[in-house]
Amino acid sequence: MAGQDIATPTRPAAPETERLRQGIVEWVEMETPSERPDLIDRLLDKVEADFEGLPVTRERLPARDGHGGMLILRYAPEGASGAPVVMMGHVDTVWAVGTLAARPVRQEGDRLYGPGIFDMKAGSYLATETLRQLAAEGAALPRPVTMFLNGDEETGSAASRETIEAICADAAFVMVPEPSFEAPGTVITARKGRADFRLVAHGVSAHAGGSREQGASAVRELAHHTLEIEALNETEPRASFNVGTFRGGTHSNVVPPEASIEVDMRAVDMETADRLIAATLARTAKYPGVRLEVTGGLNRAPFERSPQVAKLYGAVVDLAARLGQPMAETARGGCSDGNFPAAMGKPVLDGLGCSGRGAHAIDEHILVSTIAPRAELMRAMLTDAAFQAAASQ
Ligand SMILES: [Zn+2]
Repeated sequence: MAGQDIATPTRPAAPETERLRQGIVEWVEMETPSERPDLIDRLLDKVEADFEGLPVTRERLPARDGHGGMLILRYAPEGASGAPVVMMGHVDTVWAVGTLAARPVRQEGDRLYGPGIFDMKAGSYLATETLRQLAAEGAALPRPVTMFLNGDEETGSAASRETIEAICADAAFVMVPEPSFEAPGTVITARKGRADFRLVAHGVSAHAGGSREQGASAVRELAHHTLEIEALNETEPRASFNVGTFRGGTHSNVVPPEASIEVDMRAVDMETADRLIAATLARTAKYPGVRLEVTGGLNRAPFERSPQVAKLYGAVVDLAARLGQPMAETARGGCSDGNFPAAMGKPVLDGLGCSGRGAHAIDEHILVSTIAPRAELMRAMLTDAAFQAAASQ
């Protein structure tokens, strides 16, 4: 609520917070919509340049098929051993070029507003900068670190998924600095999985007045499926359905020959997802004369709070306590690239980015007071041997 902000005193930021804040703003001021691989490349060029001369190997995967490129940074100082810790974030945003001109970066009290700042430039920057600093110091680490940045997360990670799964295959654990939510110190230990479907009904057109009974309405057919699918929200506690689009028909006096709907399904666990995906794909036409086509399937498997995730979270609770930081966990309905390694049974901790609000919304912002604590936490997760031993035992 806006009223609460006025009472929040604006303290001068500590130098470290100010330096990191500037770095975040620089990333936000380079617009990177998913559909502009050229602009995503410019930001990845800048990141690569920031690592110039440091003992970090850089691997660049070029943009292809309209999807943004990727950057893999690996730091393996002497003494680091065993499976790497993987950090991964996306640099694309849902905001078209020009959004920044309309809504430039601005700060009000503790809130720093900007397109893509919360989802997830602040988190991706902080993870990358944490690694850069460690490499610049030549810091010793218990395990090597791999940082992965992609540019197609907001459109479903079609081009980067394989690379993500390959990088995470031998990870000791995976850190995802997607945004945290309202309460400072919150991380994400579960996310729903997501499936998408498209249903197309092919009916038979006819004159609505003269020969209606000779037609077969595609709109009526999909109205039936829409209501049935939406009703599953009442009977399936571990899933949700949204019929997000409904298109059909030509004129009011024509029995509609064509109609289509698009459906978003979310599920908490894989058994539920599998069962409901099979049921959706098996839908058949209710009315004679109509042919129904159903396509689609799983996009991201559920990120379940597995025993591995619980163990990693438990280790972070202890680490945060030693740092004097608050720590809490939450489950989210939205997916992230963290769903991929989680579905592979890897220990994944998501929501390591800044607190704030407004993903994909015009009030998108982070809380500046959470920048330094999150950088400190990520650094400790990479450097603290006791934490790493507890996290991956
Ligand atoms: Zn995101």
